[in-house]
Amino acid sequence: MALMITDECINCDVCEPECPNEAISQGEEIYEIDPSRCTECVGHHDEPQCRKVCPVDCIPLHPSYVESRETLYAKYLRLTGQSGKGDGQQPLETQAVRE
Ligand code: SF4
Ligand code: SF4
Repeated sequence: MALMITDECINCDVCEPECPNEAISQGEEIYEIDPSRCTECVGHHDEPQCRKVCPVDCIPLHPSYVESRETLYAKYLRLTGQSGKGDGQQPLETQAVRE
């Protein structure tokens, strides 16, 4: 599952540099997570780094992006250019999900 940032965010800037996938950016009012880049830190760390550092605990799981650990790991491989076990799949990095 990707994570999301709720409107409780106080824009403290702490989480953005901790994200190994560059999934966090400043939105119009608060920070946002790009679900197409969030792997819940799978592949990089044992636990979501943004959640670890957030002082107000406002980064829950995103209910619209239910993903298994295997799916998250596959996303990690795509994002790091390691995908392709002979399946002919192209990296999906450019398919940014925007609302
Ligand atoms: Fe980035 Fe990890 Fe937080 Fe997802 S869980 S936004 S990959 S730091
Ligand atoms: Fe917002 Fe939490 Fe990130 Fe700070 S660490 S910018 S409060 S989501």
